[in-house]
Amino acid sequence: MREIILIRYGEIGLKGMNRRYFEKKFIQNIKWAIKHIADAYVLDRHGRAYVEYEAKDHDEVIDAVTKIFGVVSISIAHKIDNDFELMKREGLAEVKRQMTLTGATTFKVETKRANKGFPMKSPDICQKVGGYILSNVEGLKVDVNNPQITLTLEIRENTYIYCERIPGPGGMPYGTAGKGMLLLSGGIDSPVAGYLMGKRGVELEAVHFHSYPFTSDRALEKVIDLGKKLTKYTRNLKIHSINILEIQKAINEKCPSEEMTILSRRFMMKIAEQLALTYGCGCLITGENIGQVASQTMEGLTVTNNAVDMPILRPLIAYDKVDIIKIAKQLDTFDISILPYEDCCTVFLPDRVVTKPKVDKIIYSENLLNGEALIAQAIDQRETYIISRGELRE
Ligand code: ATP
Ligand code: MG
Repeated sequence: MREIILIRYGEIGLKGMNRRYFEKKFIQNIKWAIKHIADAYVLDRHGRAYVEYEAKDHDEVIDAVTKIFGVVSISIAHKIDNDFELMKREGLAEVKRQMTLTGATTFKVETKRANKGFPMKSPDICQKVGGYILSNVEGLKVDVNNPQITLTLEIRENTYIYCERIPGPGGMPYGTAGKGMLLLSGGIDSPVAGYLMGKRGVELEAVHFHSYPFTSDRALEKVIDLGKKLTKYTRNLKIHSINILEIQKAINEKCPSEEMTILSRRFMMKIAEQLALTYGCGCLITGENIGQVASQTMEGLTVTNNAVDMPILRPLIAYDKVDIIKIAKQLDTFDISILPYEDCCTVFLPDRVVTKPKVDKIIYSENLLNGEALIAQAIDQRETYIISRGELRE
């Protein structure tokens, strides 16, 4: 049996002259998301997207479609001919089904008549279909202001009948707002930061820094597992894994110990910027947040920014931790993030860190190191992993 999903998209439809571009990308993304599910296909009509599929694939299709950026909400609809008798019968069946499912006792009927060729007007249709349902179901009342069931009839080239609305993530179609290099640690914040930028249409590529053999293989596995979760929303994800142990050793040897964190951070930014330029990214993305840890002060951010020319986007800058955790749980990354494998070497972490670093002083320390050579070597020895649809590609 065939089912149909009706997909609503919000902001994309407001994009004026560029609307067609956004819609086209959106439809491509939907097609990609359901490509692996036999027999599902997308119809693109009149500012709405539809997915038709075999009923047996229901759960898989819903799971995929509710993770597509740009989807505001979906409804699972019956598609019938534009025949008034059918509308009444199917409307009644749908309301009865909802009552059984939810125990609801109030309803209203809503009609959207996009097809002006249909001879009856919307208020008339609502009234007659509503009356028919009322006279055929016991214990049901009309409530136009706050109904438990809203039966919607959308009359287009066919009529779509549905009650439920399932929310999607919203946002803009993935890949419509350029590309960004995400600094992906194993922590809670950075996967959430990547998700939020992806949701605004920014395509992601990622870089992870580690200090192998001081940090374990498990730390890398953890980051790959986080990447797998992200690809439920972002198609593919390339993760560059970079060993910064030599850099940390050099800092440890030549610079004041309390500057370890801020200096490492500047190196991370510089390496990320070089990779970003190589792979066509226009910004860096981090999970930084003001005030969360000692190094994340205004002064710290200033000194970090000063390391690169590329803009560093920090979507979590003003989020409370509880709100970040809420999103991490929705993404299913939280349980992975709290696994206790360190991402960067803690051997070199000092007891005290500078909380108000000064650019001049930090650059002075940095100049004690052969930065360019250290960076070139780290990048040269990178390993790259590609994740697609939640699986690591060999
Ligand atoms: P997170 O939970 O994302 O690790 P955090 O609260 O632990 O963040 P920091 O460790 O100070 O904060 O890191 C801030 C940001 O710097 C991270 O969100 C991430 O974008 C980047 N970052 C830190 N460590 C790494 C790393 N090992 N690899 C890649 N990016 C990193
Ligand atoms: Mg961290």
